[in-house]
Amino acid sequence: MNESRIYFKQLLSGVDIGARNTSARQMANFIYLIGDRESKECVVIDPAWDIPDILNLVAEDDMTLTGALVTHYHPDHVGGEIFGMNITGLAELMEKSPVPVYVNKHEAAGLKQITGISDSDMKQVDGGDTMKVGEIDIEFMHTPGHTPGSQCFKVKDSLLAGDTLFLQGCGRVDLPGGNSEELYHTLTRRLAKISNDTILYPGHNYGGTTGFAEMGEVRRTNSYLTISSLQDWLSIMGP
Ligand SMILES: [Zn+2]
Repeated sequence: MNESRIYFKQLLSGVDIGARNTSARQMANFIYLIGDRESKECVVIDPAWDIPDILNLVAEDDMTLTGALVTHYHPDHVGGEIFGMNITGLAELMEKSPVPVYVNKHEAAGLKQITGISDSDMKQVDGGDTMKVGEIDIEFMHTPGHTPGSQCFKVKDSLLAGDTLFLQGCGRVDLPGGNSEELYHTLTRRLAKISNDTILYPGHNYGGTTGFAEMGEVRRTNSYLTISSLQDWLSIMGP
C-alpha cells in the first residue's frame, strides 16, 4: 500500500490539544488520529483533554471520525476524575460526535464506570482482533498489567502502546487495576514479538525528545526492558 495513504497524527496534550490547559501540559498525554487519506475516515486514540480541539482538527483535515480506540480506562486517556481534576473525554465525544468506542473486553466495565458511557457506545475487542479504517488495518493486542484490559494497536510498522510502554519507562502498577507480574509478562512475552524496526508511539511524552522511537533503540535504552527475572522486577516495581 502507498505509505502516503495513511493519515497519522500524534498530538500532545497541552500543546496541540487543550493548549491553555496547564494540567494537560503537565500530564503530557499523546492523542493519536489514524485513518485513510483516500476514504477520508479516521479514528482517534485516547480522546481526552479537549474534545472540540480534536474534532476541529479532524474537520480541518477534511476527515470523518468513525471510531474511538481506548488503550485503557485511566481518566487522562478517556476523561473522568483523577488527582482532583475533572478531565473531559469520551462522555463529551459521545455528545458531540458519537462513534463506536473500541475497548478491550477486560476493560469495558471499568471504562463504563469511569466515563459514564453506555454499553451500546462500546465495541468490545480482544487481543488478535482487527479492524479497518478505510483500507488501513489496525490490530488489537491485549497487554495487561498497567490495567487488566490495557491494549496496544499495531498499524503497519508502528505500535501505539498507551501506558504499557514508554520510551524511557513503562506504566505504573500501583494505580487502580495495576498488576506488576502481568506487566512483566506483557513486556517480556507479549511485546517480545514486536520487531526491532517497529516504531513505538507511547501514551505519554515521558523522556525522549521525539515522541517516538524504534523498538530496537527502546530495547537498548529503556532500563525496564533489561530486567531479566520476575524476582528482580518485583523487587524494583513492587508486587
Ligand atoms: Zn494509565
